[in-house]
Amino acid sequence: MSRILVALGGNAIEPAHGTGTWAEATAQMRRTSRSLAAVVTAGHELVVSHGNGPQVGNLLREAELGAKEVPMPPMYVAGAESEGQIGFLIAQELSAALARAGVPRTVVPVVSRTEVERHDPAFRKPSKPVGRFYTEREARDLAERERWTMRPDPRRGGWRRVVPSPIPRRWLEGDAVRKALDAGLGASCVFVVTGGGGVPVVRAGSTGWAGVDAVIDKDRAAAVAGRQLGCDTLVIVTDVPGAAVGFGTPHERWLGEISPHELQGYFDAGEFGAGSMGPKVESVLEFIRTGGRRAVITDIPSLSRGLSGRAGTRLDARRARTPGPPSRRPTARAGRRA
Ligand code: ADP
Ligand code: MG
Repeated sequence: MSRILVALGGNAIEPAHGTGTWAEATAQMRRTSRSLAAVVTAGHELVVSHGNGPQVGNLLREAELGAKEVPMPPMYVAGAESEGQIGFLIAQELSAALARAGVPRTVVPVVSRTEVERHDPAFRKPSKPVGRFYTEREARDLAERERWTMRPDPRRGGWRRVVPSPIPRRWLEGDAVRKALDAGLGASCVFVVTGGGGVPVVRAGSTGWAGVDAVIDKDRAAAVAGRQLGCDTLVIVTDVPGAAVGFGTPHERWLGEISPHELQGYFDAGEFGAGSMGPKVESVLEFIRTGGRRAVITDIPSLSRGLSGRAGTRLDARRARTPGPPSRRPTARAGRRA
């Protein structure tokens, strides 16, 4: 039996080309939950994490439009709201799927706070776009009025708010959930943790924490949560079957079982999109480096096969110390996407 943390990407929560309704998200999560239930019927202890990009974007937009009547909350509060919203969706659909599969569990979403460092260099250069596009005039107005950092996006036309993306250090509720799992609660509960990377907080005084307007990469946070919970396996579920070299080019090659050494080499060669596959690869490497046994990047349809070593990009700690075969020189670099 493994203790497995599965981190769900955007596409597992809402269909990529949908219209954003709750009904669509429910249907998508129902499909996702069937695959998650198979992890439990295979005898594993399951913990779930998830992204929140589109949902936070919508919540921020709602707050903006409603600001004349209801005071706009800080961005980090939208992060907490999204954890509640998506946690509820997962609780509804996953608990039903587990019951149907004959392995009933109480699904317990935890509104999570993730410690970041006040002096993280990311706070000096906000880089992560959030929310919708604005005209230049709106952007200048928001920069002045809300003190937001606004950046033009020449490729897609318009301006966007950018926020810092600091490195997650610790998940505040992690030790408590660890104790619960070690006491055997994993046999009756599935915890949903560090949604959207968790709400970023920094130390305030000697006992308190202050929320900060930033976004934490959910894959990085999942690696931290997996380590804190003593998970032996981390699965990053996204909308592609794994990581590829030469992605989007005629020389595209999907990576299967691979050594950390070789995967790091491809990462250093710039094979993985900076805001997309890159952090996933960094996170699986970090998870193995800090004591994890295996890590998989794959999609929902391949989840079970990924866990049995037949699909996905897979790292195994037993191979960590043996540098793999000499890596084929990555050929084409075009087609990298953020
Ligand atoms: P998620 O919501 O699951 O985090 P992302 O869009 O952030 O999804 O990351 C997955 C995307 O990464 C894929 O859809 C793909 O377009 C992109 N990507 C960038 N580089 C690569 C690569 N080398 N191999 C596979 N996918 C890549
Ligand atoms: Mg992503």
